[in-house]
Parts: sequence; C-alpha cells; structure tokens
Amino acid sequence: MKNRIDLIKGDITTLEVDAIVNAANKSLLGGGGVDGAIHIAAGPDLIDECKSLNGCETGKSKITKGYRLKAKHIIHTVGPVWYGGYRDEHELLASCYQSSLEIAREQKIRTIAFPGISTGIYGFPREMAALIAVSETRRFLMKNKYPEKVTFVTFTDDNYETYRRLLNQ
Ligand code: ADP
Repeated sequence: MKNRIDLIKGDITTLEVDAIVNAANKSLLGGGGVDGAIHIAAGPDLIDECKSLNGCETGKSKITKGYRLKAKHIIHTVGPVWYGGYRDEHELLASCYQSSLEIAREQKIRTIAFPGISTGIYGFPREMAALIAVSETRRFLMKNKYPEKVTFVTFTDDNYETYRRLLNQ
C-alpha cells in the first residue's frame, strides 16, 4: 500500500501522469485556483469538451482529455463549498475522491494526481480535507488494482507536512 501513494509539493499542471484531478465547479467551465491553471495549461480545446458535459453535481466527477498537458486525462470533480460542516461537506468531499478513483478504475488509469479538493477558494479546513483524501484513497486502493499509484500534490509547506504526517501513520 505504501508505495502506491506518493506526496509531492508543486504544480499539478506539470505532472506526467495518466490523469490529474481538477477541483472544478458545477459549471465545469473553468474558474480560479487550480481550475484556472489547468485550463490555461491544457489550452482552449478543453473548454469545448467541457461545454459538452453539461456540468457536474457536487461530489461527482467527469473525465476529459488532457490536451496540451503532459497528463493524458483530466478528471474534473466538484468539491463542496465549506459552510461550517452542516451541509454534508465531509460526505461530499469523500464522494469526490471515491468518484474520481472509480473513473480511474473503469478507465484502467495507472497513475493519478490529486490537488487538495475544496481546500482553496471553497474553504474546507485543510487538516480534515487531507484526512478524508488519505483515508478514502487508502480504502479504495485496498480493494482495487487500478489506479496503481496515487500522488497527492500540495501547494504549500504546511499542507505538505499535514499529508506527510497522515501518510506515515
Ligand atoms: P477549490 O475551489 O476546490 O477550493 P482551489 O483551486 O481554490 O479549489 O484550491 C484547491 C487546492 O489546490 C488548494 O489547496 C490550492 O492551494 C491548490 N492549488 C492551486 N493551484 C494549484 C496548482 N497549480 N497545483 C496544485 N495545487 C494547486
């Protein structure tokens, strides 16, 4: 299990993996944060494919091609906006990881990288979000052959430490 989960600090748009996960919004038509960075790096053909998908519900995921990215695919998942924990935010964030990993399994994706879904503009507390990310991923990998490897991508030092601590437990 240990060698199936990786942790790096950096820019997810530069990774050479089968799929990167995008922290998208329900429209799937781009936005700020990692979503904006992915759209810029992938190029304008991405938005055309996204327009054909008719959006996505919170907690669910949809796949597109990666276009100009080194990553072959983008799995767009819609994280919950944090409202204090009273609107099923935990379950919805867990569902983002489950549904993204489920698509990876179906498509026989070997390597997949996740940013911290909902932990930027959407305001989900980072420690709790990292715990959900790690526990849902471990649970999924235990039961499934694909994806073979999951990389968590952090953008800041303190977030890296949070994941490192959880992964060493
Ligand atoms: P959300 O709206 O789901 O909160 P954001 O894009 O605002 O999404 O933030 C999600 C996480 O992605 C944050 O932890 C942010 O620091 C991180 N992030 C932003 N840009 C990048 C990037 N290029 N690569 C990896 N992570 C990123």
